Amino acid sequence: EILQKYHDHINPGLADLLQLGGLAAVDDKAEGAYVWDADGNKYLDAVGGYGVFGLGHRPPKVIEKVKETLDKMPLASKIFINSCEAELGEKLSEATGYQYFMFLNSGSEAVETALKLARLTTGKTNFIGMTNAYHGVTFGALSVSGRDVYKEPFKPLLPGVKIVPFGDAEALANALDDTVAAVIVEPIQGEGGVNVPPPGYLKKVRQLCDEAGCFLILDEIQTGMGRTGKLLAEEWEDVKADIVCLGKALGGGVVPIGAVGATETAWQGFIDNPLIHESTFGGNPLATSAGIAAVDEIVGKQIWNNAHSTGDKLLSALRSEAEKYPHLIKEVRGRGLLIGVEMMEEGYGLPMMGFMLEEKTLVAYTLNNPRVIRIEPPLIIGDEEIQWLVNAFQKALAKLDK
Ligand code: PMP
Repeated sequence: EILQKYHDHINPGLADLLQLGGLAAVDDKAEGAYVWDADGNKYLDAVGGYGVFGLGHRPPKVIEKVKETLDKMPLASKIFINSCEAELGEKLSEATGYQYFMFLNSGSEAVETALKLARLTTGKTNFIGMTNAYHGVTFGALSVSGRDVYKEPFKPLLPGVKIVPFGDAEALANALDDTVAAVIVEPIQGEGGVNVPPPGYLKKVRQLCDEAGCFLILDEIQTGMGRTGKLLAEEWEDVKADIVCLGKALGGGVVPIGAVGATETAWQGFIDNPLIHESTFGGNPLATSAGIAAVDEIVGKQIWNNAHSTGDKLLSALRSEAEKYPHLIKEVRGRGLLIGVEMMEEGYGLPMMGFMLEEKTLVAYTLNNPRVIRIEPPLIIGDEEIQWLVNAFQKALAKLDK
């Protein structure tokens, strides 16, 4: 009945696709690393909302804080200063070292904001993005993303955007000139297929941006908040951006939120033009109070340490399974709990999702690269969940091999 409603009033094409993959179950309940469907079946959530459920589903401290805010002042008038917004700004600044923050309602909006800020402060117009990059669905974010099939139907997009190969510093050096306002890059590509760039790449990108006099925008919407084994993935290369984009796990898995952080220098455009870029719901008390509790939990427990150690264990366990099927799997890669399994053929992605589902485990292929199965569980998982995941992986591979 619910599926029928979804089919009739949300999207028939998507409903058919989900049904085709055997994925058309209905969420009913969620807790920690697990979700239940309407028939009471329990699943390990290793998609994790594409990075949203860093703290797992319904983390108690975040729920408690949001309830408190609901009882007091869920939305702000937008005339008085909103205390939750101010507090989240301070907490994020202390945790990340970026001085200023603006809060939006999604990752795409955060990227849009970062691009506008770069133009505003530098007075330059152009951008450089990367092949396979995913930055969101709005026109600006889409323009700097790197997969043509998603872009083609919406052209003309932003003019003055060049896309260069991800991981290739020399190609970036050749593309940079004094018209470029910013280079935008994910420290590790998520939707592009969990692509980890060569060591030293980000540092080199930073250096090239400095030499060209443009900003570096790091999109940490998926890699941030502990996912890769550090609070921000930029720390792996000891690099600071001029502008950073956050989202997903920042809302504690409870509310939608996006954020843009920047250095004092990069923020100058917004300081000089305080009302030029605004949002009715951006920074609202409900979203930012969830953010406060999420940052307290993530930073207080240094949850990235668990992502690091369980990520290492999971990666090597998955690799030893994968080695048994060299004709099915090309590579298992990743950092922390952002892991990608690259299948030998694009056509293996959907059946692999279906077979994992039969083993009560949710995984998904990456949006820009259907050949890569993404394994992105909550950062709170332990040995029990690793065992569950590896068992499911084993059984799914055996089925795919038949
Ligand atoms: N940037 C990155 C790196 C992402 O992974 C995503 C979402 N997958 C986005 C931006 C867009 O975020 P949202 O879907 O919240 O707009």
